[in-house]
This record gives sequence, structure tokens and C-alpha cells, in this order.
Amino acid sequence: MKNFGLLGKDISYSFSPILHEIIFKEFNLTATYKIYDTPNIANKKQLLLLLKTNNLLGLNVTIPYKTKILNLIDDASSEAKNIGATNCLKFSNNKITAFNTDYFGILETFKKMKLNLENKIVVILGSGGATKSIVQVLKEQKSIIYIVSRDIKKIKNNFKNITIISYDDLNNISGYLLINATPVGTYPQTDISPVEKNVIKNFDYIFDLIYNPKKTLFLKYAKLYNKKYENGLYMLVVQAIKSQEIWNNINLNYEKIYNNFLSQIYK
Ligand code: NAP
Repeated sequence: MKNFGLLGKDISYSFSPILHEIIFKEFNLTATYKIYDTPNIANKKQLLLLLKTNNLLGLNVTIPYKTKILNLIDDASSEAKNIGATNCLKFSNNKITAFNTDYFGILETFKKMKLNLENKIVVILGSGGATKSIVQVLKEQKSIIYIVSRDIKKIKNNFKNITIISYDDLNNISGYLLINATPVGTYPQTDISPVEKNVIKNFDYIFDLIYNPKKTLFLKYAKLYNKKYENGLYMLVVQAIKSQEIWNNINLNYEKIYNNFLSQIYK
């Protein structure tokens, strides 16, 4: 039996166990995926104890540990190092290696949307962990990146060589892709959007990292203006599949698992 799980705080709502069950069925693996809702991870000893006592080969990592846990590991992939955050740990031969599979979730979502990002203006709302991964992908694609923050001064040093603007400045910008990387609009507060609809009118493509609800108010505005849009479900699926590929040294079919999961969660 292979054991995996999700480490975070206040994460009982997560769809991840259902998603990983679908992946296990897809490649006939006898395995478990459990939630490890943990109020604090103080040191490496505690992390090793969690891995060893639960016989874990891999852990996904979410809020609030994605950055902090990098201080407790033995090695990291180039994505995890460049981004400065991890959402996937592999435990083998007593060694903990960190990966960032959100990076691949974002990259594959951009491919699904058939985006051509080189020299295009991309605006990201919010300056948290997910934005760090998006920025890494966009840098590699040579996009022109803007981050919109409620507090420009506070985050200025976190993103070197990137233009940080306010929500007021955003009213004067038009571009190729607008991304919501804030939690604004997530269930149950589904009647709010991080920006007014006149902002959405100024972009060609719209991506919301939120997947619950299926269509946020932000995406309803996109539909209203006939923009091409995508929610965060494909990203969620790809990061999970990529984690299983890393843990089990296998290759899986993204589309098949995505369609299966889609039909199970948006009934
Ligand atoms: P985070 O670290 O908490 O950062 C979110 C950022 O959004 C904050 O840094 C903040 O930036 C801004 N923000 C927070 N509350 C806000 C509010 N009330 N109004 C306006 N802006 C606000 O979260 P994260 O990990 O980056 O995740 C961001 C979103 O992406 C969440 O909804 C998360 O569930 C989703 N996500 C989805 C996937 C997926 O697979 N689909 C993966 C990762 C994350 P400023 O303070 O600079 O404004």
C-alpha cells in the first residue's frame, strides 16, 4: 500500500482526496490519500515524524506551509527553488525533496487556453503564493507582467523587476490576459468579484484560479463580454497528476482524469 496526503491548516474542505482517488483508479494503484490538517509545523523533526508514522511516500503542501516548509527539506527541484515555494514533497531513502507542481498546473492551463504569451501584457490580481508560481511561468514565456496589489509598498520587495500597480491604476490598463489569483469570489462568498466588469472588458483572455464555484462572478463578467475564459479546475487536476507522476515515476493522461473529475464535482 502506498500512502500520500495533503498537509495544511483548516483544509477539511479540500477536493484533493476525491481527485487522487480518481487518479488511483486510473492506473490501478492500491493507495491512500488523506488530509493532514495540522495547526503548526515547527521543525524538521515534526515533519519527519508525520511522514514516518503515517508511512507516507509523498505529501502535497498547501496554505500556510508552502514557503515555510522549504527550510525543512533536503533538496528542491529547479521550479521550487526559482519560485521559493513548494506544494509537493517526495519522501524516499529518508530524504525529503520539494517540487512545485502548481507551476505545471499553470503551464498546462495556458496551453489548454491556447495562449501565446510572448511580449503580451498579463495582469495578475493578488500577490500571494499562487502569484509567485504564475510569475515564474510568465517570465519564461517572456510576458510583460503587472501585479495588482491592495498594498504596493508592502509587496514591492517580494517581486523584483516586476511592475506593481494599484486597483485604481488598473482602470487605465488594457492587455492580453487578466488572472484572478486572489480568493475573492470563492464559495460561499460568490456574489463578489475582485474587479468591476469594465476592467474585464479591456482584456482578451480571463483566468480565475478559483474552481468553486465553477463560474465566479469574475468569470460571469468574462462571459458577458464574450471573452475566452478558464477556471482553476484544470490547474488543480494537473498539479495533482504531476504530484502522482513524481511520486510513482509514471505518466498519466491529463484530459481523461480532468473530464472524469469534472463530471463528479460539478453535478
Ligand atoms: P494567498 O497566498 O492567500 O494570496 C492571495 C492574495 O490575494 C494575497 O496575497 C492578497 O494580495 C490578495 N487578497 C487576499 N484577500 C483579498 C481580498 N479580500 N481582496 C483583494 N485581494 C485579496 O493565496 P494563494 O495561495 O496565492 O491563492 C490565491 C487563490 O488561488 C486562492 O483562491 C486559491 O484557492 C487559488 N489557488 C488555486 C489553485 C488551483 O489549483 N486552481 C492553486 C493555488 C491557489 P494583496 O495583499 O497584494 O492584495
